[in-house]
Amino acid sequence: MILTSAELWAAATNCYVIAPERGGPAVIVDAPPDVDAVIRLITANDVVPVALLVTHGHVDHAGGAAGVTKRTGVSAYLHPDDDYLVSDPATQVRSIFGFVPPGIEEFAAPDHYVDLAHGEVLHLAGFDFEVRHTPGHTLGHCAFVVEDEGLIFSGDQLFAGAIGRTDLPGGDFGTLMDSMRTQVMTLPDDTRVLPGHGPETTIGRERVVNPFILEYL
Ligand SMILES: [Zn+2]
Ligand SMILES: [Zn+2]
Repeated sequence: MILTSAELWAAATNCYVIAPERGGPAVIVDAPPDVDAVIRLITANDVVPVALLVTHGHVDHAGGAAGVTKRTGVSAYLHPDDDYLVSDPATQVRSIFGFVPPGIEEFAAPDHYVDLAHGEVLHLAGFDFEVRHTPGHTLGHCAFVVEDEGLIFSGDQLFAGAIGRTDLPGGDFGTLMDSMRTQVMTLPDDTRVLPGHGPETTIGRERVVNPFILEYL
């Protein structure tokens, strides 16, 4: 298996590429608004993308989706509860950064997103991606579990030693912790956690070191 990542754009967002082997099909998880760098990650690993899974609609994860779908021809997948974010990137960016930078139109959504639904299993590039709707950071946030490989792409739900912020529009701390309890911490301790920001961790490690899980779960 090939599993590679790069920290991209101003928010240092992890873009992941997972593939069974070199030369084979691959899935991209999250598209920060640095399309050239996403394409470089694909070509450097000699894989052929077949889908773009987007954990949630914040621009640092979804802002490159239009460019990536245009350049690669793949479909992008997003939970429809995050339409409020991708349909209006200018308002979203203002709420995060306090101003709207030039070039915001490049963060616009692709022409079409395939709707993700909680509990469905997507068969992509030889892997089974189980979609887990994990609201709390945003309304439509999803994590993707690849059980056979012992992985969860946790987006901004769970980080090493931290959790996603819940003070932005659609965020709610109690909802995020409910998602943590019912959808994330139910996974086996040896599950690798691949977060939207920062280093990889495991479910077992977070169970004993993550202050939010220790205090609020
Ligand atoms: Zn986010
Ligand atoms: Zn993020």
